[in-house]
Amino acid sequence: AKQQGRSQYQFYSPEVNAQLQERLALENELHGAVERNEMVVYYQPLIDLHSRQITAMEALVRWQHPTRGLVSPAKFIPIAEANGSIVPIGEWVLRTACAQTRAWQLAGLPPIRISVNLSARQFEQPNLVEVVSQILEETGLTASYLELEVTESFLMGDVQRSVNTLEQLRELGILLALDDFGTGYSSLNYLKRFPVTMLKIDRSFVQDVTSNPDSAAVTDAIIALSKSLRLNITAEGIETQEQLDYLQKRGCEEGQGFYFSRPVPADAIAQMLKESSQQ
Ligand code: C2E
Ligand code: CA
Ligand code: CA
Ligand code: CA
Repeated sequence: AKQQGRSQYQFYSPEVNAQLQERLALENELHGAVERNEMVVYYQPLIDLHSRQITAMEALVRWQHPTRGLVSPAKFIPIAEANGSIVPIGEWVLRTACAQTRAWQLAGLPPIRISVNLSARQFEQPNLVEVVSQILEETGLTASYLELEVTESFLMGDVQRSVNTLEQLRELGILLALDDFGTGYSSLNYLKRFPVTMLKIDRSFVQDVTSNPDSAAVTDAIIALSKSLRLNITAEGIETQEQLDYLQKRGCEEGQGFYFSRPVPADAIAQMLKESSQQ
């Protein structure tokens, strides 16, 4: 009873209560946000660290809230994940990003791949492979231009099922990236079983790669691992010339980060692609 009394006291503290109220409000407002056209996809370029050409875009969703303004995914994705609205939102992001990428191709811009984040809930949907395949057909995007980003944390739930789903996605011809690599379980044994094509070095390592020997060691190890497993390798969160120089010297092939560009709306990307092709 004491325990309960204490947690009730916490529940009614003004700050916790305000946070809870906001969370409940967001949770309610997330329902139907796609239908109300409130979701927007921003795109962040991935760069070939050698040629400096744009190789891909990562699709990153934002919520254009009627009164709160642009809400960051860090704020609403966990809530959407908890209440299930991530499933329609994620499907909408995938469709929008594939259609946009096809439109850039049809406009004569240099073809690039499009990388889309998958959530745990989406990955668990029994019709995921069907949905992905239907979106490719509907938008006319060739499968090899689509990359899905997954994380170890949700692959580790039911490993055999995850392997099966990933294999079916690979059979469609799409690419698979292991996002936030180095932060999860990173069991090398499982890594070997997951048919992924790319590792993305997490931003937390890139951030202090030039100042923290431990981060440098992990980064070096991930790059070496990608080479021995013949996986492609991208570094996320590159913000400085020093980080870029380090990664390039160590043989990292591709990167993304504010040093090159922040995530921007689709119309800004068309201009970037034009310039990238005129280089
Ligand atoms: P993530 O997949 O790891 O995406 C990279 C995040 O790092 C993005 O944050 C991006 O804006 C940010 N970033 C990129 N370069 C830099 C840099 O140089 N410095 C710093 N400080 N940050 C950088 P964003 O757009 O706020 O997204 C946050 C997270 O929300 C994503 O992390 C991803 O987990 C999730 N997310 C975003 N869009 C989607 C989506 O469509 N579906 C799902 N399931 N999750 C999404
Ligand atoms: Ca990602
Ligand atoms: Ca990431
Ligand atoms: Ca991250």
